[in-house]
Amino acid sequence: MATHSIAFHERVDRALDDGSLQTALSRATDRFVTNRANALALVDDFDDLRARGRAIRASALAQLDDVLVRLSERIEARGGQVFWASDGDAARQYIVELARARNVRTIVKSKSMASEEIHLNDALEAAAFTVVETDLGEYIIQLAGETPSHIIAPCIHKTREEISELFQQHLGMPATDDIPTMTRTARTVLRQQFLRADMGISGVNFGVADAGAVVVVENEGNARLTTTAPRIHVAVMGIERVCERLEDLGVLLQLLARSATGQKLSVYTSILSGPRRADEPDGPDEFHLILLDNGRSQIMGGDYAEALLCIRCGACLNACPVYQSIGGHAYGGVYSGPIGAILTPLLQPELRDVHKLPQASSLCGACQSACPVKIAIPDMLLRLRADAVAAGKADAIERIAMAGWSQAMANPALYRAGGKLASLGTRLLAREGRIGWLPPPLDQWTRQRDFPPFAPRSFTELWAERQRRSAGDGQ
Ligand code: SF4
Repeated sequence: MATHSIAFHERVDRALDDGSLQTALSRATDRFVTNRANALALVDDFDDLRARGRAIRASALAQLDDVLVRLSERIEARGGQVFWASDGDAARQYIVELARARNVRTIVKSKSMASEEIHLNDALEAAAFTVVETDLGEYIIQLAGETPSHIIAPCIHKTREEISELFQQHLGMPATDDIPTMTRTARTVLRQQFLRADMGISGVNFGVADAGAVVVVENEGNARLTTTAPRIHVAVMGIERVCERLEDLGVLLQLLARSATGQKLSVYTSILSGPRRADEPDGPDEFHLILLDNGRSQIMGGDYAEALLCIRCGACLNACPVYQSIGGHAYGGVYSGPIGAILTPLLQPELRDVHKLPQASSLCGACQSACPVKIAIPDMLLRLRADAVAAGKADAIERIAMAGWSQAMANPALYRAGGKLASLGTRLLAREGRIGWLPPPLDQWTRQRDFPPFAPRSFTELWAERQRRSAGDGQ
C-alpha cells in the first residue's frame, strides 16, 4: 500500500514499532552526525562559510529569471537542448517522447530527487522502457520496490542484513552480509547496464549560469558513467538549484560535502556543459537539460521562499530527533525530515494528512543549526501550522483542546482549577513517577512514550509561598 494512503499517525506508529528500521536509523544518523561534526571541526570558521553559502544562494534566487536564462542560453550555444517544464507532466512527457523518438530501450539513472518528485520511473516503465537506478542506495530500493527515505541516503532505512537478503533473492548472491562482497555483486550487474544503456538520466546539484554547465557530485562514479556512457544524457534540475558563477562552487561544494557526509569534498565532481564536442573522445551525442518548475515559482516571493535556498544535503534530517525516530517514509512525500515537512505541503499538497507534517517537530532548532545555508526551518514550520489552522484543517480534538486552553488562559480561577485537576489525575495514574497509559485521545502520546505527572504544587503556588515568606522575613 502506498504510504500516502495511510493516515500520518498510523505511518508514525508503524515506524516506531519497526525494530529493524529503528536499528538502521540509529546506526546511520549517528554516523552522519559524527562525520559532519568531525568535518566541521577542520574548518576555521564554518559559520562564515555558511553565511557566504547563504548569500550565494539568496543572490541567485533574487534574480532567478535572469540567471536561468543565462544558463539556458550558454548550454544551447554549446549544442545542448533546454526544456522548461512547468510541471511533472510536462517533464515526463518530454523525456518519454525523446526516448521514443530515439529508439531508446534501456535507461540508466543516477540519483535524482527531482526525478523522484515527478515519479519519472513510473512514467518510463509504463512506456515500456527498462529503467535501472545505478546509485547503490537507489538500486537497492528499486530492487525492494520502495522509495527513498533520505535525501542523500535513499536506503538508510535498510539494515545490511535486509540488503543481503535482497541481493540473494534478486541477484543470486551467495548468503553473506559482507559489504565489499555485496557492493562487488551490484557493481558487476550495473556495469552491464551501463554498456547496454541508450539514455542516462541524472539529477543536478547546481546549475552554473556563467559557465553554462551543470554540476553533479557523487561518491560512487555511477553518475559519471550515467552522464557519459549512453548516447543521450538528460539532466533534471529544479529551477532553484542554480548559482551565478563557477567560483560559487568553491563555497557550495564544501558546504554540501561537509554537511551531507562529512567529507571535505565528494569523491567525484562532474561539470557538464553539453554534448560531446568533435575533438572529445567520449561523452553523449545529445545533452538535454530539463528545468523543472513544478510549483517552485509559486513559492518564490512568498512566506516560504527561503525553503528554496536548500542544497539538499540532508543534515537537517540527521539532526532532527523526529526524523531519527520515524525515518523518511512516515512523512509520505518525496522529501522528508524538517525540510520535507515544509516542501511536501508546498509541492505535494494533494497528499493525505500533508498539513500534519509541520507538527512533526519539537521546534528544538537542531535543523536550523545544522543547515549549511541557515534556513529558518522552525519559523516556517510554525507558519505552516498557522496556515493549516486558518484553513480549518485542525482536527476536532485539537480545536476543542485549544478552545479549552484559551478559556483557561483567560480565566485565572479556571486555570488554577484545571491545573489542580491535572495534577491529581496524573499523579493517580503514575507508577514509579511515570505515566505509561493515558485514556483516549491522550493515549496517542503514551502509545510510544511515557508522560510525566504534573507536579503536586504549581509554580504559581510555590511563587506565592515564596513571596509570602520573603514578606514575613522583611517584617
Ligand atoms: S534545509 Fe538545510 S540542512 Fe536541510 S537539506 Fe536543505 S540545505 Fe540541508
